Amino acid sequence: MMQNILEKTLEDHRYWTKEGAVATYIPELSKQKIDALGIYVHEVNGEVYKAGDWNMPFTIQSISKIISFICVLQDNSIDTLYKKITVAPSSDGFNSIVNLETKNEHRPLNPMINSGAIACIELVRGNTLEEKYERILNMIRSLSNNPYIKVNESVYLSEKETGDRNRALAYFMKSTGTIETNVEELLDAYFRLCSIEVTCEDIASIAAVLANDGKGIIDGRELISKKICKTVKAVMTTCGLYDGSGEYAVSVGVPSKSGVGGGILAVSPGKMGIGVFGPSLDAKGNSIAGVKVLESLANKLDLSIF
Ligand code: GLU
Repeated sequence: MMQNILEKTLEDHRYWTKEGAVATYIPELSKQKIDALGIYVHEVNGEVYKAGDWNMPFTIQSISKIISFICVLQDNSIDTLYKKITVAPSSDGFNSIVNLETKNEHRPLNPMINSGAIACIELVRGNTLEEKYERILNMIRSLSNNPYIKVNESVYLSEKETGDRNRALAYFMKSTGTIETNVEELLDAYFRLCSIEVTCEDIASIAAVLANDGKGIIDGRELISKKICKTVKAVMTTCGLYDGSGEYAVSVGVPSKSGVGGGILAVSPGKMGIGVFGPSLDAKGNSIAGVKVLESLANKLDLSIF
């Protein structure tokens, strides 16, 4: 039954890919196949279902922000986090600089937008930025249960070459004291984290752990505490789809995080992790068909948390 639902849902919404556009501000992303669409469902009982281009690799982009955030919460108290970054929703774009100057004592609004994610990396445990990066990468590998996950070098170089907006955000934060470390090394870690290559299966498996209150699906071992899972799911709900988070909460109602590579990681608490991929994006940078597929699935399976 689930298999049929997934196949039919993809089929019914594939035409949406034509309504959006692949990201071009990172030139390497513009080479993606615009009509690709795939889904992978990983239930907390271990059952898996997949359809469409579920096995097509794409870069994780902003979905890595969840994993950096998990590491920050494991390595710091929430009050230490709040000294640098808040968890306020944003009504501006994912790479917006405006609030850094005018609001919130120069703290990035939340860890799910670029400024907040860049600042998060510095708070992760590690003597060097390389060690901090490795810690986050290893967490991605461990939560997805895929030790082979690695960076897509072409996307990484493309991001590094064209990442002036992120440079602007990071240097601005250095000027206000939010960032204290070497900015270029920090950005390098950020660009690499965005360029990590995954499939729908990988992100669905990460989502399944969050859906399972932080416990591994196979062995039930605690990978993330229940408390941290709650915090992460709350911030995903309020901030996970950039300035589209409010509408998404209404139409889908499932804690999720999107990335400009076209992926969306969705967590249905106690039920399943879902990974969707469709690189054609809407104006806010979210997978246009991916959101429609998740809306339809959430309706059919009654997944909204509200
Ligand atoms: N690497 C992208 C950037 O920094 C990530 C953006 C995103 O997925 O939201 O612009």
